[in-house]
Amino acid sequence: MTVSLPKRIVDAVRTAIGPSDDLVLLHGPYLPPKAREYIDDCLETGWVSSAGSFVTRFEEELARFTGVKRAIATVNGTAALEICLRLAGVASGDEVLCPSLTFVATANAISHMGAIPHFVDVCPKRLGLSPIALRLRLDEIAVRENGIWRNRQSGQKISAVCPMHCLGHPCEMQAIAEVCNEYELPVVEDAAESLGSFYNDKHTGRFSVAASISFNGNKIVTTGGGGAILTDNDELANLAKHITTTAKIPHAWEFFHDQVAWNYRLPNINAALGVAQLEVLPKLLVAKRRLHELYRDAFGALKGVRLLVEPPDSVSNYWLNAIVLEESDLLHDSLQELSDAKLQSRPLWAPMHTLPMYRDNPRGSMTATNWASQSIVNIPSSAQLAFPFMESESI
Ligand SMILES: *Cc1c(COP(=O)(O)O)cnc(C)c1O
Repeated sequence: MTVSLPKRIVDAVRTAIGPSDDLVLLHGPYLPPKAREYIDDCLETGWVSSAGSFVTRFEEELARFTGVKRAIATVNGTAALEICLRLAGVASGDEVLCPSLTFVATANAISHMGAIPHFVDVCPKRLGLSPIALRLRLDEIAVRENGIWRNRQSGQKISAVCPMHCLGHPCEMQAIAEVCNEYELPVVEDAAESLGSFYNDKHTGRFSVAASISFNGNKIVTTGGGGAILTDNDELANLAKHITTTAKIPHAWEFFHDQVAWNYRLPNINAALGVAQLEVLPKLLVAKRRLHELYRDAFGALKGVRLLVEPPDSVSNYWLNAIVLEESDLLHDSLQELSDAKLQSRPLWAPMHTLPMYRDNPRGSMTATNWASQSIVNIPSSAQLAFPFMESESI
């Protein structure tokens, strides 16, 4: 009797991560004991909210780890991306080129600016914005008028390119930069998923004017909810801090604000959680890589499916492991089989250009995007799955 591919996928996942009776999460947080200590510190001192030392510490540790000059903590990754776009000069009515294959936050952040997400296809190997598709699309629609690049079809200004490092795998940033230089477009990276991922030995988020990271509950480091802006530009960093904290002029008792701004600050108690996890981030990355190797061994001989691997020029954080099905008509059965086996798994996102609010947005060819959304399954990827001792350490 032949065993179906979906059943073999379940077996391979089980071989890699071992048996368990409980639901295996797609991605559960790792909370080191220090997290409790630091949060207790917030509770004891009363510094739980909008001021306190953990926010600064979190920003400094994040800058140190990524090698970026400045990091500004925010309330979530979407808010961080919105501010990054603003820092890059995106204004209301502009078009921003971004992938359709992304979490909805990328397109929403652009929309909240009053700007228009203009969708470009992805690279089938990396799943991030394709430099080839980007060039094709710009060659097709961009026209320079009075020093401004416009979409000749819509008449709107094209003001930035926003690649997203999908599942932690870096985009081909050098080729993307070449296209963007030619068209004089600033890059803003959505690095929400790629803390701990490097392209050509440089941390993701360092290939743009400003980049955003997310610390949502399912990310490699979580602050409960949270985000950060990364930039090498001091002036932009100061502006980002100012406008994410209500544009208040520092003063002992006076409330004076010098512009319309946002309350996007990260509370101290959330930052405390982040500081504790940044301390163990190198360990988390080792565990993630180990888990990927376990999957590689388990899936190695399985025909009809392959594991997504990091690009040769990159070091990926392996945030979420992904398998690629040769036959996309097995997607539904594979997800169902994994679900029945209590192995929490999911397909990639429904592409943005298929969602009701983005259906009519400008876009190029979506061949790789449509293929990927029908053929890829994310499988359980918590760091603790690689090293069971971590599970007992996590509070
Ligand atoms: C998680 C994520 C974000 C930001 O999400 P928040 O929940 O706002 O922190 C943005 N873009 C991508 C691609 C993401 O995966």
